[in-house]
Amino acid sequence: MRGKGIFPKSLLAKLIYWIFASMSDIKTTTIDQLGEFGLIDHLTRRFKLSNPTSSKGIGDDAAVIRPNGKQVIVSTDLLVEGVHFDLMYTPLRHLGYKAIVVNLSDIYAMNATPKQVTVSIAISSRFTVEAMDEIYEGIFHACQVYGVDLVGGDTTSSLKGLVISVTAIGEADEDKIVYRNGAKEGNLVCVTGDLGAAYLGLQILEREKRLFLEDPQIQPELDDQKYLVGRQLKPEARREIIEYFNDINLKPTAMMDLSDGLSSDMLHICSQSGVGCELHESRIPISEDAYDQALKFNMDPITCALNGGEDYELLFTIESEDETKIASHPYISVIGQITAKEEGSVLLTKGGNKHRLTAQGWKHF
Ligand code: ADP
Ligand code: MG
Repeated sequence: MRGKGIFPKSLLAKLIYWIFASMSDIKTTTIDQLGEFGLIDHLTRRFKLSNPTSSKGIGDDAAVIRPNGKQVIVSTDLLVEGVHFDLMYTPLRHLGYKAIVVNLSDIYAMNATPKQVTVSIAISSRFTVEAMDEIYEGIFHACQVYGVDLVGGDTTSSLKGLVISVTAIGEADEDKIVYRNGAKEGNLVCVTGDLGAAYLGLQILEREKRLFLEDPQIQPELDDQKYLVGRQLKPEARREIIEYFNDINLKPTAMMDLSDGLSSDMLHICSQSGVGCELHESRIPISEDAYDQALKFNMDPITCALNGGEDYELLFTIESEDETKIASHPYISVIGQITAKEEGSVLLTKGGNKHRLTAQGWKHF
């Protein structure tokens, strides 16, 4: 489903029109008309509980989750307008979808399965019921796609801007959970999908925003950028990889999801595991779209892949003898190996040079 059918034509223009229209006085329902409880009822009316572990959902003082002999895994994220998202080019529906997906990605990154979410929102009076409906449409869709239940949340007002906080709750057998600290010397470093596209998608949206602000008559050119913009606005979590691990009976030694960028995320695994690593530039997966767009922006594609962030791919390490188990998988690339701590964390370039991986980029020795 990646990158397909996500965008209406001329997204930015339609979107901006919609945002302005929804903020104008014409066709809208104010939150006041429903009141807080009316709004909660309205927003959550479609959500039904489907997981056996969701014992009590919305409507009481707290949700009740029945763990069933499993370990419970909890992750939470807070998204603030103007800091984490820009409503100028983020459709509210995508925002709702992404807010859920990025949390589910954290649960999958523990080799666990998400089952429940809570959603808390702070909204200013400039948001209408219709605008909230759009956000909840995205939330509903994500809950359906990933099979999770919305079991609660909180709703409050903010003076300015929109804040969304999502908590995801998952489950796993104790011996299946994968942490960041288990990488061992000799392990292989693997990554799913391709990297850097979400960052380039963001650069495209920022460019279109600048052009739009200069001249609102300009139609945004996003049609041939669907993949990159889609990776930014509507990321997916790697559920199928976790299911694949289970099917082939493979347990990574360490794992995390790529939210900050390969460089800095790899350094987390290395420091928590007390190891070094050697990544090969030539093996880092970059889509053709991302590669071409990076060059058009006068950027180095590999720098985008290393530092871009928001790819929500999985970065994991495996025992070297498990390589055959993943060798035929179309979305898994082996990009390097774990070394002794003293070797440091380095990138081997195509030209045979070594660069130290750093959280913000990479530096020459
Ligand atoms: P309380 O006063 O106990 O915090 P609320 O009136 O805030 O309860 O919430 C009532 C019910 O609605 C609770 O089950 C809560 O989890 C749920 N809820 C509140 N806001 C949201 C939201 N934005 N999305 C989903 N569920 C919500
Ligand atoms: Mg409350």
